[in-house]
Amino acid sequence: MTNIQFHPADESLELYAAGQLDPAMSIMVSAHLEYCPECRRRVEAAEQKMATQLEQAQPEAMNSELDSMLAMIMQQSPDSVIESPQPALQQEITLGNKRFPLPRALQAHPQHIGPWGRLPGKIQRARVDAVSDSKMNFIYMDQDSALPEHTHQGQEITLVLAGTFIDDAGTYVPGDFIIQDAQNKHTPRTAANQDCLCLTLLDAPLHFTSGLASLLNPFSQLFFK
Ligand SMILES: [Zn+2]
Repeated sequence: MTNIQFHPADESLELYAAGQLDPAMSIMVSAHLEYCPECRRRVEAAEQKMATQLEQAQPEAMNSELDSMLAMIMQQSPDSVIESPQPALQQEITLGNKRFPLPRALQAHPQHIGPWGRLPGKIQRARVDAVSDSKMNFIYMDQDSALPEHTHQGQEITLVLAGTFIDDAGTYVPGDFIIQDAQNKHTPRTAANQDCLCLTLLDAPLHFTSGLASLLNPFSQLFFK
């Protein structure tokens, strides 16, 4: 058992299993799976379900072609990713004299990480420019630090990688996958003897698809900085 209390939505896990999440969200979910056996089981179940549906949809097509396709899907399961060591890739993220394990999902993109920059309040940040137009960052909170109270534009996902942070709603430990939006207002902080490293993702600009609102699309970028 782990102490993880916050998980991706079931829908996200199903989309992940189907390979239909956008690349940035897929990295966030994949990194959570490295910590969370419970969600690994759910993704596996979703994969099984898809495999079964595929079989039922094409009973006469149960030939080698389909078998190899299924084998490929199974190969992509997070368990097999976790079991295959990739020694050639960067496996740690360094900050001063501190070292943290780099999520496997990001080990293919180390050249896009950093450099570290300082934010107010003993907070440091390193951008991850790996994927799509989403805003992904490592956030490091030194011990006994706090971010000013803030709300979120759009959705923000925070995955704790190491250490612990606290806000008005609770205490977050490695693996916790915290989803916040404009409704949430919080003041993250760390305890006196505990630092914290997180991976955060701000989602892509809102995209209006229908009616008059779609006319706003060219401007939605302006609100996403
Ligand atoms: Zn989980």
